[in-house]
Amino acid sequence: MSARVCVIGAGCSGLTTAKRLKEFGVDYDHFELSDDVGGNWYFKNPNGRSAVYESLHIDTSTRRLEFEDFPAPEDYPDFPHHTLMHQYFRDYADHFDLRDAIEFEVGVERAVRRPADAEEAPGGWDVELSTGEQRTYTDLVVANGHHWSPALPTTPVTSTASSCTATPTSTRSSRSRCAASG
Ligand SMILES: Cc1cc2nc3c(=O)[nH]c(=O)nc-3n(C[C@H](O)[C@H](O)[C@H](O)COP(=O)(O)OP(=O)(O)OC[C@H]3O[C@@H](n4cnc5c(N)ncnc54)[C@H](O)[C@@H]3O)c2cc1C
Repeated sequence: MSARVCVIGAGCSGLTTAKRLKEFGVDYDHFELSDDVGGNWYFKNPNGRSAVYESLHIDTSTRRLEFEDFPAPEDYPDFPHHTLMHQYFRDYADHFDLRDAIEFEVGVERAVRRPADAEEAPGGWDVELSTGEQRTYTDLVVANGHHWSPALPTTPVTSTASSCTATPTSTRSSRSRCAASG
């Protein structure tokens, strides 16, 4: 079996991986839980895993974060709002024609290593999809972000600021809301 890669996730990590695999002519399948690309930068992402809050601006500057082969638009501010970041990743996917290869609303449920002496794809991966389908790959790229298993506090977050009591959806977003209102 020649190389056949499974890519999990179409946030910026999965998209850039897919772009390189495509460039090098490597056969790959690309799975994304959500209905669009962008991962964390997709506000109110139906996958339930985005921690982006309404007022969020990225704190990495535009010229540091942009991809060398896909510069951000000239009129982007130094620290873009999350809506601009999402648009940038959507445009990246369109520019490099990556969408057709993405199977949206399909999650990878399990990935199990194959025996090193297996006849097909030795040392590769058996992947189980949310559709119930099983597929076999020589290689696996896990670009599922860092929100796949949230660690949420069990008690509400409180602050000395007069108007701030939040039940967190994530520690980072709650802290930021408190800072904004304090
Ligand atoms: C509030 C906040 C502010 C941030 N600010 C910055 C910043 O200023 N600068 C910076 O560089 N970074 C920042 N980050 C970090 C941010 O995580 C990265 O910018 C970026 O989103 C990571 O991209 P990723 O592709 O690795 O993961 P994600 O963007 O999280 O994408 C992962 C994708 O994988 C998909 N997925 C997950 N599990 C599965 C599965 N089992 N099957 C199929 N698909 C799956 C998800 O649906 C998602 O689309 C911030 C994060 C947060 C929460």
